[in-house]
Amino acid sequence: MRQYLVAGNWKMNKTLHEALALTSEVVNMISDEVTTPVTVVLCPPTAYLSTLNRYLETSRNVVLGAQNCHEKAAGAYTGEVSAPMLQSIGVSYVILGHSERRQYFGETSSQLAEKVNSALTNGLKPIFCCGESLEQREGGDYVALVQNQLTESLFHLSAEAFANVVIAYEPIWAIGTGLTASSQQAQEMHAALRGHLAGKYGPQVADDTTILYGGSCNEKNAQELFAQPDVDGGLIGGASLKSREFVNIVKSF
Ligand code: PEP
Repeated sequence: MRQYLVAGNWKMNKTLHEALALTSEVVNMISDEVTTPVTVVLCPPTAYLSTLNRYLETSRNVVLGAQNCHEKAAGAYTGEVSAPMLQSIGVSYVILGHSERRQYFGETSSQLAEKVNSALTNGLKPIFCCGESLEQREGGDYVALVQNQLTESLFHLSAEAFANVVIAYEPIWAIGTGLTASSQQAQEMHAALRGHLAGKYGPQVADDTTILYGGSCNEKNAQELFAQPDVDGGLIGGASLKSREFVNIVKSF
């Protein structure tokens, strides 16, 4: 079923000491202040996942996500981490296809389809990122382009498998730039993506799919974005590094 969800993508930030402090602040504030049913996913650097898991064991609605995984389960892939490894240390979600991974690490749609498969086979829920660059938006055909990202990496899945996928629409021009999509721009794309899912999997699956917005979402604009009928929460970068601001975003529903 569609759920409210806010995920914090810490990217390559924080020392262990800082990560522990941020986690315990977020967990305490959420437990004291958040009454709406919302799933909160913390996505710290891989190095801290196992340690942070111990902090989250007693927390009701805060769970762990990884920022990436390899498409293979094991083997000679120096420096990589696999879905079964993440699953074995208590990780629940994995961000896949973030624009930074597509841009800096050359991740392709077909490779992402394999990563999605590995995540799902090993009980991880992919937070699958899609989105257009400014150039692509100005080129005009950006809706079809983003819909196509879903087609290429997700539409081989059965409806049953797809039910465990979360989509994150992240216009690349809004990531880390301070430029946010307006609530109308976000709603337009989210509705178009939901329509695309309905065409493939039917209206019920489309309606049940959680679609997040990401791109300079902060405590000031989250409420208006989350109020849109097809926006079910956010994937938060910079603002997830400050406990007070992140929890205020979680409280924006
Ligand atoms: C992101 O990188 O997923 C993101 C949304 O970053 P920011 O919130 O900093 O724009």
